[in-house]
Amino acid sequence: MAHQARKRFGQNFLHDQNIINNIIGSAMIRDGENWVEIGAGQGALTEPLLKKVQHLDVVELDRDLVTWLEHKFSSYTNLKIYSADALRFDFSSLAPNGEKLHVIGNLPYNISTPLMFHLLETTDCIADMLFMLQKEVVNRICAQPNGNSYGRLSVMMQYYCATEWLFDVPPESFNPVPQVMSAIVRLVPHSKPPVEVDDVKILGQVVTEAFSQRRKTLRNSLKKSLSENEIIDLGIDANLRAENISLEEFAKLANAVSRKPIID
Ligand code: SAH
Repeated sequence: MAHQARKRFGQNFLHDQNIINNIIGSAMIRDGENWVEIGAGQGALTEPLLKKVQHLDVVELDRDLVTWLEHKFSSYTNLKIYSADALRFDFSSLAPNGEKLHVIGNLPYNISTPLMFHLLETTDCIADMLFMLQKEVVNRICAQPNGNSYGRLSVMMQYYCATEWLFDVPPESFNPVPQVMSAIVRLVPHSKPPVEVDDVKILGQVVTEAFSQRRKTLRNSLKKSLSENEIIDLGIDANLRAENISLEEFAKLANAVSRKPIID
């Protein structure tokens, strides 16, 4: 096919058959499941998926590729292609009867983080997600406290999902060859959050505040939201930095903020 890969759409097409097989194997597809692929490109994952899944919905932004995919896979009756921007797509519309979707995609790296957060807004209808991302982003998603990779993305993703790095994918597996290493991550939304949070928005705010000045102690970075004593009262050392704080502790900090009486 004479499709010129478009940089603005984050197009890096997978061509390594072993990697493709490993991804499809990791998807653990079972009978009767509904799958959604984001960014099908030239169908590297679409084709093996179509052979295994009961139903596949594809969301692809590039209209030329949509036309090409429709033609290439016209003989499959289990495929529906949506010519749409995944960032604005209502994924819950694909799961009308309370069924759960299995989402898969070699995501365009420039939109991967906002896209994951967009999907997390509809976690109720998502069984699991298998994504190819920049390795550095996978490291951040799966990171535990006390390391450089640990940050806002780790805390928020782990609030919503169990996260699991599966394997790395080298640049040569793609065409064109990207400049960075990639990795496959599995995200499984928790049926019940691992910690109790009164207001997720406030959790997000507190986490952002704490990490916006990574090098500062909580006493300083959270100054606008909580006093040193209020932090200490939660049993948290105010001299620690954001990167030392677990999800459970962030939940305590956020709940303290949301439970504070509003004083004018
Ligand atoms: N899955 C294919 C293609 C990966 S490249 C493969 O593994 O080879 C990423 C794909 O996502 C491209 O096809 C690109 O056009 C598409 N894409 C980019 N931005 C998108 C968006 N906002 N919504 C849906 N698809 C998008």
